[in-house]
Amino acid sequence: MSFDRINEKLNILADAAKYDVSCASSGSDRKNKNKGLGNASKMGICHSYTQDGRCVSLLKILLTNHCIFDCAYCVTRKSNDVKRAAFKVQEVVDLTINFYRRNYIEGLFLSSGIFKNADFTMERLVAVAKKLRKEENFNGYIHLKSIPGASDELMYEAGLYADRLSVNIEIPTKKGLKLLAPDKRREDFLKPMNTVKNEIVKYKNEKKIIKSTPVYAPAGQSTQMIVGASGESDKDIMYASSFFYKNFKLKRVYYSGYVPISNDSRLPSLGSPVPMLRENRLYQTDWLLRFYGFEVQELLNEPHPNLDVEVDPKLSWALRNLDYFPVNVNTANRQMLARVPGLGMQSVYKIIQARKFRGLNWDHLKKIGVALNRARYFLICNSVDFEKRDLTSAQIRSLIIQKTNSKYQGFYNNQLSLFN
Ligand code: SF4
Repeated sequence: MSFDRINEKLNILADAAKYDVSCASSGSDRKNKNKGLGNASKMGICHSYTQDGRCVSLLKILLTNHCIFDCAYCVTRKSNDVKRAAFKVQEVVDLTINFYRRNYIEGLFLSSGIFKNADFTMERLVAVAKKLRKEENFNGYIHLKSIPGASDELMYEAGLYADRLSVNIEIPTKKGLKLLAPDKRREDFLKPMNTVKNEIVKYKNEKKIIKSTPVYAPAGQSTQMIVGASGESDKDIMYASSFFYKNFKLKRVYYSGYVPISNDSRLPSLGSPVPMLRENRLYQTDWLLRFYGFEVQELLNEPHPNLDVEVDPKLSWALRNLDYFPVNVNTANRQMLARVPGLGMQSVYKIIQARKFRGLNWDHLKKIGVALNRARYFLICNSVDFEKRDLTSAQIRSLIIQKTNSKYQGFYNNQLSLFN
């Protein structure tokens, strides 16, 4: 195969892979062994993205952009008139090793369209990972995208070689899936996820007894949902996420704003991309569910099916639940402190440590890093002034918005940098 042809394939298949954002590599501690190549525990892998969503430190490609399915939201769909290409297994292996040796990448993110059926495709994805591990002694990070409907045996094998596995849910509601991806069945996502979940648990338990038990998908499994393709509410999306976190022990759910790519009347029209702020609010909500002890029903429910774009979801919840406040920073428990707007988990930890030695006041909180522009309306401490006084939630909201010197204010297409 000529260099030009490989280069052409790479252009096509790397471009087609850029719509998948679920390639963070956190959570794997695969070590270099037998003087092999790579080390997935090395810091700095795959946490940087270029502006179009491509992850810069992984080789992120599709095995093929041929697909037998016709999902309306996907550039790879069979009815789309695009140039097609497919890598051979050995070509992906060679590219990964060559790129690794040149220091271009630290791992591989490999996804694929569906060649002729799920197993035929999955077999090839597994073969790439197996060759890298067994023949090339490659210990770098490997994220394999699982093909919906792949057999249990292949999913099992995939987890022996890959650090992370993921099946993309894509569309959060059954109705949306039926409308936009009529070839896909929800069960086809759930079954591989369930296999992976069970194997992870099984291997972990075995490892407790037999130390030499190999690791199975050490970075766990993840999924991605497309936001804004099927008219779903934020509630639909986050209820689906909560379901998957709870039932399949997912490491991460990624949210990817739909990029209008066609004139299909089932989809938002061209030129109407999903504001990035919506994605950010979803990530913030996801964070609250995973680390702050919130239940999804508290943040999104029938009266509030969509997240507030003006304020973050924790502040929005607090403004709807002023009865819980003010919280005394010197006596409140960890769970309640975590619910105070402007307090991140690091600040909560620091507060709990610091208050063992003295009563905290506003100055102490400022030094700890508390975002007082928000927290001051919800906290009391060893200072006389308390900002909430008898302010209504509408007044607090308006004061916070006015005082927030946010670069995002008024132009919602930019990414939030911090979350408290
Ligand atoms: S199955 Fe996957 S690759 Fe194929 S059209 Fe659907 S989303 Fe695209």
